[in-house]
Amino acid sequence: MRRPFIAGNWKMHTDRVSAIALAEGVADQSASLAHVDLAICPPYVYLDAVARAIAGSKVAVGAQNMYHEAAGAYTGEVSAAMLLDVGCKYVILGHSERRHILGETDAAVNRKVHAAHQAGLAPIVCVGEVLAEREAGKTLQVIRAQFEGSLAGLSDDQMAKTVIAYEPVWAIGTGKVATPEQAQEVHADLRKIIAGQYNAQVAESVRIQYGGSVKPENAAELLGQPDIDGALVGGASLKADSFLGIVAGVKA
Ligand code: PEP
Repeated sequence: MRRPFIAGNWKMHTDRVSAIALAEGVADQSASLAHVDLAICPPYVYLDAVARAIAGSKVAVGAQNMYHEAAGAYTGEVSAAMLLDVGCKYVILGHSERRHILGETDAAVNRKVHAAHQAGLAPIVCVGEVLAEREAGKTLQVIRAQFEGSLAGLSDDQMAKTVIAYEPVWAIGTGKVATPEQAQEVHADLRKIIAGQYNAQVAESVRIQYGGSVKPENAAELLGQPDIDGALVGGASLKADSFLGIVAGVKA
């Protein structure tokens, strides 16, 4: 049985004071929620302060990116060990904003996924098609290629511990949400791909989040789909009430 998992991607938002207040708001209001895993992913510079502020709560902390090397002359980069050192449990890798704005390739994401697992961080790996690809009927082809490129070479155990976020690029930050049927179709396809490349047991273990304009109003229907195991939330994770409104969409 997969445990539902809702994560908030704060992107390049908040400042020190508002990051801590938001984290404390989420932690305080979620203390009694035993049926769901929660994580918040603040900007790098607030990870330490946020992790300290909510230490001991049920809310885990994740980073939005990392570099694949363990240490060295990589100006501006941050390693998996550094993220663990400041209290991270998760790291988002291959977000579409990193792929499309910052030019991150599947091969680069794959190196990071391996480095995260080796260090003991759980990666949340994003895949998703752009609108032109969906309209050309290429969604499954694109998702398969991203899966094969970004997640190549993992052991069964590493794959089972990897979280995948299906995030159609046309739905991120646009207010256009995939219908529950559109999302379920891709999630089921992803699970079939995992079963084919690993095995049925691994496929049944992998949590696949949906991301793209998830809000309290549309969460329950999306999260009620059999292969949707949670959500990666951008804009609506920046207010404790809306983030927890989405969490309320998970069946207890
Ligand atoms: C995201 O950034 O991962 C995301 C899904 O953003 P939003 O919820 O704002 O569409």
